[in-house]
Amino acid sequence: MSEHNLPRRKLGSTGLQPSVLSFGASPLGNIFGDLSEEVRIAAVHEAFKLGMNYFDTSPFYGDHKSELVLGKALTTLPRDQIIVATKVGRFPGNVFDFSAERVTRSVLESLERLQLSYIDVIQTHDIEFGSLDQVVTETLPALQKLKEQGLVRHIGITGLPLKIYRTVLDRAAPGSVDLILSYCHHCLNDKTLDALIPYLQSKGVGIINASILSMGQLTKQGPPDWHPAPTQLKEATRKAAQHAERRGVDISKLAIMDALQNRHIATHLVGLATPEQVRENVATARQALGLDPRPDQALEDAVLAEVKEILEPVQGMTWPSGRPEN
Ligand code: NAD
Repeated sequence: MSEHNLPRRKLGSTGLQPSVLSFGASPLGNIFGDLSEEVRIAAVHEAFKLGMNYFDTSPFYGDHKSELVLGKALTTLPRDQIIVATKVGRFPGNVFDFSAERVTRSVLESLERLQLSYIDVIQTHDIEFGSLDQVVTETLPALQKLKEQGLVRHIGITGLPLKIYRTVLDRAAPGSVDLILSYCHHCLNDKTLDALIPYLQSKGVGIINASILSMGQLTKQGPPDWHPAPTQLKEATRKAAQHAERRGVDISKLAIMDALQNRHIATHLVGLATPEQVRENVATARQALGLDPRPDQALEDAVLAEVKEILEPVQGMTWPSGRPEN
């Protein structure tokens, strides 16, 4: 166990040690609802203070807003104690461009918005919307060049359908992909990422689990309007959240506690926008990892079992994303 408020884990062979629960910065782009910039910056500072050291953003989140606000917030944090991850290939207006020219320019633009001289982790964002051939033969080599120039330190790929990872990792040059970011596949209603973990480990890539709350489905307030889940899944998660609330337990707490039990995942990303949410989720993580007592353990364990039963009929249910061939 580390001396930090939140334990750290190895991210594949990168040498990076992210906190086990990390800062998903898409809400800084106000995509989950409007908040003042002051509150969003305070959330980043609270997260660092409480032991989070990994911050994930993208030019796509809130039309650059997330990167801009994160960049502003990070200026007062020690650079050597934070890990900053952003992405290329998915742009405002939902435009996808994985060409070498565009992703190279994108990194330079992100460095400016983030006010940084290098990016720790650069990820090809939602590759299922592009040609996976192009990702392997053009995008990854372009990012490799930026790595050689010292502008980025580690390279990753992200996306929803799990089969994209084998397609790319089986073909990419060894060592050209350091990590993968999967989302919505290791949470209460979907554990399909787990079956892929031995393969990912055999390839030596670090594993990041994003959307631990299934992009807001596993919350009291429910998902945003744009959430792409099918109605049957949204109804089941709403029913589960309401059931937990009636029993006096917050479904977000159950979701975070449950996800953190998987020790093969380097870090779990939760979308954060307020200092209160940061405090609440860090407290949950500490209880889940046995660092703090769990006064409500008996009730929480009982309600977790009930919630899992409600979600059983939709377990692993997902939605289409990207090109049909991917
Ligand atoms: P999430 O599952 O973490 O849910 C985020 C929502 O939950 C936000 O509305 C947030 O305000 C709310 N929330 C957080 N803690 C809460 C609590 N204790 N109680 C109630 N509500 C709470 O979804 P996400 O933000 O999509 O995922 C986390 C991060 O992962 C993103 O911010 C992003 O950085 C990354 N991500 C990347 C990709 C990709 O690369 N394709 C996809 C999804 C997510």
